[in-house]
Amino acid sequence: MGVKTKILLIYTGGTIGMIKDYESGALKAFNFNNLMKRIPELTQLACTIDSISFDKPIDSSNMNPSHWVAITNIIEEHYTHYDGFVVLHGSDTMSYTAAALSYMLENLGKPVVLTGSQLPIGDLRTDAKENLITSIQIAALREENTAVIQEVCLYFEYKLYRGNRTTKVNAEHFEAFASLNYPELAESGVHLKINKEYLKKVKKEKQFKAHKLLDDNVVILKLFPGLNQNVLNSVLNIPNLKGLVLETYGAGNAPTDEWLLNSLKKAIDSGLYIVNVTQCSGGSVLLGQYETSEELQHLQIINGKDITTEAAVTKLMYLLGTGVSPKLFKTLFETPLRGEMQEK
Ligand code: ASP
Repeated sequence: MGVKTKILLIYTGGTIGMIKDYESGALKAFNFNNLMKRIPELTQLACTIDSISFDKPIDSSNMNPSHWVAITNIIEEHYTHYDGFVVLHGSDTMSYTAAALSYMLENLGKPVVLTGSQLPIGDLRTDAKENLITSIQIAALREENTAVIQEVCLYFEYKLYRGNRTTKVNAEHFEAFASLNYPELAESGVHLKINKEYLKKVKKEKQFKAHKLLDDNVVILKLFPGLNQNVLNSVLNIPNLKGLVLETYGAGNAPTDEWLLNSLKKAIDSGLYIVNVTQCSGGSVLLGQYETSEELQHLQIINGKDITTEAAVTKLMYLLGTGVSPKLFKTLFETPLRGEMQEK
């Protein structure tokens, strides 16, 4: 018999890890040491599963970059010993964590699958079991002694997505996530269908590297009709602000008011990185397509193309943390680093 694939489950918190105390009706955190007992189906998988839990599992609304570093540390420490990693995480901020991890884990040659659930694992109608079991199966997939998936992904409700392309779109449906600008990496039906043409290809000779410096001097500003000068200037004048994700209309359009363009220009000239992303859930920024984005293009605003807001704000944190020179920053931001945006 060959050596079994080894999977490490990293439990950070969220609904998935809760069980209902049927006497009191309250939800409580799940003891992951009893995982196999609770979900006997897991013993049927052809892999060995170990688990590590955050000392204090958290609701993902409480996630921040220090938790992303904690997850990165666990993966780095156990990288050579395991063939794949499954991160159990609350769904609320899962897309941010997935995007952040994609940048932090450079030259990843193994799968990191984030999953969670809308209902706790102990609930009769839970979606947690399927999400967990299939995520482990996906993380354990191997061909010719190599992991099939070599990137950070998110599995939810029968679909595997590239993590940094996702957004949480529904707080009620089991299908809580969408990846509107990139096709699904896999679909779980009667068969597990892997869409190999969309998987990230990793160059074998490149060494895995974990990055842990993130700069959180960033902000997201969504344009809306009625945004006034006072509010805009207050945001632009936040002390030590280094990066701003500007959620514009449609294909990257903004009002042509002189005060707005002047304020943005002043901020960019004084060193603030401003990224133009669309506030639409799907589609791309096309600078210059309309008169209302031509001016932004002249200001040297960074073109976020079809990146999600989640992937843009975490990319700002990551690039600021690496200390990229101002000369290179725009070009690097506009380059897909981990498949988070289109090439052109
Ligand atoms: N509030 C929960 C969390 O994000 C929801 C969930 O787990 O889906 O941690």
